Parts: sequence; C-alpha cells; structure tokens
Amino acid sequence: MGGVAELLVVEDDETIGTALTTGLRAHGHAISWHRTARGAMGAVNGRGFDLVLLDLGLPDLDGVELCRRIRTAQPGTVIVMLTARAEEMDVIVGLEAGADDYLTKPFRFGELLARVRAHLRRSATLPQAEAVLTIGALVVDVAARRVTLGGAEVQLRTKEFDLLARLAIDAGTAVSRETLMADVWDAHWFGSTKTLDVHVAALRRRLAAMGDAAVPPPITTLRGHGYRLELPNSQELPNSPELPNS
Ligand code: CA
Repeated sequence: MGGVAELLVVEDDETIGTALTTGLRAHGHAISWHRTARGAMGAVNGRGFDLVLLDLGLPDLDGVELCRRIRTAQPGTVIVMLTARAEEMDVIVGLEAGADDYLTKPFRFGELLARVRAHLRRSATLPQAEAVLTIGALVVDVAARRVTLGGAEVQLRTKEFDLLARLAIDAGTAVSRETLMADVWDAHWFGSTKTLDVHVAALRRRLAAMGDAAVPPPITTLRGHGYRLELPNSQELPNSPELPNS
C-alpha cells in the first residue's frame, strides 16, 4: 500500500493508549486516538482508516457492538480487537461482528507491530494456482477473490478468503499450521496461532450458514498438524495432482 497508513486506536486506558500511539507513530503510522465509542464513531464517519485497533472494554458502549458499527461504516478496513477477555466465545463473537484478528492483553508491542504490518500488507503470499478452484459445490475464484457455494456468493473477510484459498489450492491434502500462518498472515509470524483456529471456525460457520444452497466441503482438523479441505469422494486431486496424500 502506498503512503502513510491511517490507524484508528480506540482505547480508554491512558497507559496502553499512550504506549500504542507513541510506538505506532514512531514507526511511521498516522494515528487517531479515541477513548470512547462515541468519539470513535465520529472519527469513522469523518474519514477512512486502513486499520482499527479496538479495545473491547469501553466506558460508553460494548466493544463488540462498536466493532459491528465500524464494520458497517467501513467495510474495507482491518479491525484488530484488543481484549482482556481471552474466552473463545468472546473472540468468536467479535469475529462474527466483523473483526479480522485479535490480541489478548497483555501483549508485547513487537507482537502488535508485527500484526499491524501483516494486516497492512494485505495480500497473502499464496502459491501459484489455477485462477478458479472447484471443490465440489465450492468455487474459489482466486483472481476475482470471489467464493460461491452452489452458485450463491459467500461473503468472506480478507483473511478468511486467503485461508480458504490456501486450503483450496491443496484441497484433499493436509496443510500444516506453519504453512497456513506463513502464507496467510505473515512469513515472519511469531506468537499465538489461535487466530488461525478462530478463523477456521468462522470460515466453517460462514459456509454452513449458506443453508440450503449446497453442502460445503468440510475443513478437517488434523490435531497437532493443521487442516485439510476435503475433496468430494468422486473428485480426484485436480489442483495439485503431484502432491502425495497425507
Ligand atoms: Ca478498556
């Protein structure tokens, strides 16, 4: 992306907010800092942001609800939740509300910076693939960044699409956690990979929510290894015939 990235920080804690804004400015980002949901919505309605760092515990509105409103106002922005609530359900609710990623407090600034950079880079380093991948009723148009299931369009977030595309490229084959983290998020990723599990869960839900459109190919969890997007029984490995079975 060209130019200076515009970041919105929504954080009512003075110590954390000061550390975040000071550190991010020092790395060349333009920062608007707001301590309330009301202030954040005013900022969001006034201009576009590349990325939003959103504390879930705000004084005037639940952070998840604010997340939903920001997502509606700016469909293209990246939202990273900052949460002291590490419970899986809270994270899932936030992702359902439109967040792309989350960080659990306390976190190191270096970890936050790595995530911000990875998200601003925006494009996953996906391997070369056919322009259109067909896995049963699921069609992943890599070039157009479009997914359909039984002909109905599936709305996915940026990272959800990248993740599905990465799995689809090697459909029928196990893809390791390390490969998924490196290709979809960042080549030099460090820290928790729980974001991967949460995105897989969100992806499964979005596909299942297509209802009667068609049965989506399952994403199988391979404990201790990674994930595999399953091919229908009748489908040979069309996209990567040279790869061995796991
Ligand atoms: Ca707070």
